Amino acid sequence: MTTLINGKETGQKIQQQIKLEVNALKNKGIEPCLAVILVGDDPASQVYVRNKKRTCGELGILSLEHKLPSQTSQDDLEGLVKKLNEDSSVHGILCQFPLPQGLNEERVIHTISTDKDVDGLHPFNVGLLATGKPRFISCTPWGVMQLLKHAGIDTEGKHAVVLGRSNLVGRPLSILLSEKSANCTVTVCHSRTKNLASVTSQADILVAAIGRPEYVTADMVKPGAVVIDVGINRIEDPSAAKGSRLVGDVAFETAAEKAEAITPVPGGVGPMTIAMLMANTVNAARIQNGLEPMEI
Ligand code: NAP
Repeated sequence: MTTLINGKETGQKIQQQIKLEVNALKNKGIEPCLAVILVGDDPASQVYVRNKKRTCGELGILSLEHKLPSQTSQDDLEGLVKKLNEDSSVHGILCQFPLPQGLNEERVIHTISTDKDVDGLHPFNVGLLATGKPRFISCTPWGVMQLLKHAGIDTEGKHAVVLGRSNLVGRPLSILLSEKSANCTVTVCHSRTKNLASVTSQADILVAAIGRPEYVTADMVKPGAVVIDVGINRIEDPSAAKGSRLVGDVAFETAAEKAEAITPVPGGVGPMTIAMLMANTVNAARIQNGLEPMEI
């Protein structure tokens, strides 16, 4: 029978641990604080920021929201980041992407202090990850690794195929899976990969992070594989109350029949991403106060 890998449950479990850690830090006079910058009025970004703020509140983490109009200049945006870098009461800084057209995300990432880079996107932190000494790991790839660990999936010597090579998900995840702590043999696929199905069919662990609704079909899945679906895509569905619904990058129903274990969308990787953002924020507060990062 196929196992459903429940990210909601695992995410909550991790959040409980973080809540205890937040209380312990508060007893030491340290109040973890996350500053979130939202530029413009992209509806999906507004939802993401609201969820992050709510979770901070539930865990006792202080969240400061900086809402900027879509006409904000690059200089003003970077100026705000620099101000937050210098504010010792702020431990983590997150700028919600995508930014409105005309603003350069890479320059913003480079401006964030490497000690406050809770999204783990600064080249310094990516470099630490790539050299096997991770400090702040991008939240979604870290969430996937935690999900595998908590689901008791043995990764040792397994062939992991990662679909997608973005800086946010695919690339850091491929590094994590190849780390000595996971010991996978990793293949990374992208839009120019030839004979994709023949590659994915060899995967013991198949991760889809391409942003293509239900693209990975059952014929691309090896019988008994573990399938992790990172994709979040909204598709039209007249039968749904909102007229649309969320699906992943994997055709869940049919792929689940072949997989040994699979994550649902929603309720799979999504809740893990937010849990790991909270963990990175607490770790930022710990590091800035001379403490070791917490173990999860
Ligand atoms: P992205 O930056 O657009 O990158 C997509 C990657 O997929 C690229 O490397 C692209 O290849 C590759 N790709 C696109 N079409 C492909 C195809 N037909 N076959 C093979 N590879 C293909 O996207 P992202 O930011 O990594 O996000 C990926 C998905 O994960 C999206 O659905 C996003 O919403 C979701 N996501 C979910 C979470 C979460 O918390 N669950 C967090 C972040 C993202 P090229 O490099 O050749 O263009």
